[in-house]
Amino acid sequence: MNVDLHCHSTASDGLLKPADVVARAAANGVTILALTDHDDLSGLAEARTEAKARGMRFVDGVEISVTWEGTTVHIVGLRIDPDNPVLRSGLESVREGRGKRAEKMGDALAAAGVPDSLTGAKTYAENPNLISRSHFARHLVKTGHAQDVKSVFRHYLVKGKPGFVSHEWAALADAVSWIRASGGIAVIAHPGRYGFSKSDMQAFVARFRDCGGTGIEVVTGSHAPEQYAEFARVAREFGLLASRGSDYHGKGESRADLGDLPHLPGDLKPVWHDW
Ligand code: AMP
Ligand code: MN
Ligand code: MN
Ligand code: MN
Repeated sequence: MNVDLHCHSTASDGLLKPADVVARAAANGVTILALTDHDDLSGLAEARTEAKARGMRFVDGVEISVTWEGTTVHIVGLRIDPDNPVLRSGLESVREGRGKRAEKMGDALAAAGVPDSLTGAKTYAENPNLISRSHFARHLVKTGHAQDVKSVFRHYLVKGKPGFVSHEWAALADAVSWIRASGGIAVIAHPGRYGFSKSDMQAFVARFRDCGGTGIEVVTGSHAPEQYAEFARVAREFGLLASRGSDYHGKGESRADLGDLPHLPGDLKPVWHDW
């Protein structure tokens, strides 16, 4: 079994169309795939159709942007119902916030000497309702402001840099409740990326579980290998189901390719144990 429960398409900030994500996953030997675009469900139908044609198991997913105690965190929803009105309207409110934030980012970058970046970012965003920092980053690379996407983030788009705009995303309890309302399970995405102290991590995971969250990513392309063991311990301590996902966005923008990750530690209960 090769399970990949976290990746992106052009419905958010991935480089491949949903059907092409599925094709690539199939070629890489993935047997169960979840597409988890940021704050948007519009890629799921195409991906599901392609997976069906290939006889691959497909899981409807989403990755919701959340603000917890001033820090941006991501919560993945798996086996959600894309037609559920509670989930749909929650995500719509998050996307509205994205549009306003993108305008502020364009203004901030203009003040820093990078003109017209919102117009530029929009040319990279196939889904006009979902503009992310990745789309700005691609435009800044294209226009010679940095060599690659990674260095755009480092020099322009992270806290303390000129193009960073702080933003209030969904509340943790809301995101988890939208996922659950649609029949899905909530999973903490790439916990190793948040820079939490040990005590903040404990408080965050405890709060997530109190909200009804049940899973945590342990093996992800967003973790360094030494973090697999660290978050396996967290999964055991809090009795959370463990997940595995590449967080693939496209060639040159991701650490792991689809399905190309180590397996979960054998003693952990995977999120897919009863699928
Ligand atoms: P946003 O949701 O608009 O804040 O954009 C977040 C996305 O930017 C993430 O999902 C990643 O795809 C990408 N990203 C964040 N940090 C980096 C980084 N340091 N290098 C490359 N991509 C990044
Ligand atoms: Mn992304
Ligand atoms: Mn993420
Ligand atoms: Mn992701």
